[in-house]
Amino acid sequence: MTKPAAALSETQTADALLRERAARVVPGGMWGHLNAARLPEGYPQFFASAEGCRIRDVNGREYVDFMCSWGPVLLGHRHPEIQAAAEAQAALGDCFNGPGEVMVELAEDFVAMVPHADWAMFQKNGGDATTSCVTMARAGTGRRKVLVAKGSYHGALPWCSPSVAGVTSEDRAHLLHFEYNDVASLQAAVDEAGKDLAAILITAFRHDMGRDLELPTREFATAARAACDAADAALILDEVRTGLRLDVRGSWETLGVRPDLCAWSKAIANGYALAAVTGNDRFRDAATKVFVTGSFWCGTVAMAAARATLRIARETDVPGHIRTMGLRLREGLARLAAREGIAIRQSGPPQMPLMLFDDDTDVRKGRAFCAAALRHGAFFHPQHNMFLSSAHQAADIDAALEAASHGFRAVRELDARRNR
Ligand code: PMP
Repeated sequence: MTKPAAALSETQTADALLRERAARVVPGGMWGHLNAARLPEGYPQFFASAEGCRIRDVNGREYVDFMCSWGPVLLGHRHPEIQAAAEAQAALGDCFNGPGEVMVELAEDFVAMVPHADWAMFQKNGGDATTSCVTMARAGTGRRKVLVAKGSYHGALPWCSPSVAGVTSEDRAHLLHFEYNDVASLQAAVDEAGKDLAAILITAFRHDMGRDLELPTREFATAARAACDAADAALILDEVRTGLRLDVRGSWETLGVRPDLCAWSKAIANGYALAAVTGNDRFRDAATKVFVTGSFWCGTVAMAAARATLRIARETDVPGHIRTMGLRLREGLARLAAREGIAIRQSGPPQMPLMLFDDDTDVRKGRAFCAAALRHGAFFHPQHNMFLSSAHQAADIDAALEAASHGFRAVRELDARRNR
């Protein structure tokens, strides 16, 4: 599987040479969360190819992939049926003067699959979808205040960017914050918004970087729905990261709570660029009134890929399979950590797992674990929730666990050096 360490020194690898070139022509060598300075030590910045649950970097090293392109890859890289659907559409053209038939078909697919949805609209990135939802909620209610959980990520636009650089306080003037899963703090924010409450925007579970993942309590989800009903405001569910991985009907279906508006992206076209907003009839007029569009929003190739992805997600139990694989990973990690006497915490749904080390506020253990596992062929992340795909099979998980055993050994050595 994994090639032996390249004979080239670290400074001569294809990845290092690309970083040098990028640093000259791309500010910081890369933007956002993929900025080289933010990469865990030893991680490649550039990739060459991918197939199934394996990715290959530009240095020619192959890994079992547990990031799935940070979420978009649900069925495995280059899934044959998705590729066939996308290529058949590409042969006819992608970007026309307006949408193709496939847009209507895809909207019909969403409406049939998602119980809260009476309609669907399409965009490109998750941030397009969350921003559209907020705009529609304001247009539909005629109000301004939007409640978001502290630390939740909804995109990189000025109103929701995690950075303050280049952002004005006016960009966020009408955002109010609450603690995820804390009904009292949600109610306090609702009270503060008063008659100006337009929407409550919530991720399907709490998946903030670097902290234990947290599923929503039924009480919290129900309280959010009740608060929106009482104030005639919109409940917006941000399913950009979770969509199709936990429950194809929507992640809160099992809680019995349905949103008014929902933002989707990432997995819906298995790696092709697409986002969607689904909504109920209460917000149909608002969605008609707002002006939202983009040059590439009706690209047909991604929509054809999405139709095939949704069909496979409906027909085969994708959430069930990736859950089984995630549990196998989780149980294996727990066993290996116990064998080395290392305290870890695992959280989140098994389909989107996270493993953190106890006493690791500087993430040195997490980084040492990931760097060693990477050298042995598993691509994990020390702080961000990971992703399983339906291409992962038991043998892939077991290969990754073998790599993880080297990671735990590296953490034990780090502990030993610290205690010396
Ligand atoms: N919402 C959530 C919950 C996300 O995880 C992300 C992306 N990580 C976004 C919104 C923004 O999506 P995009 O990066 O495609 O704009």
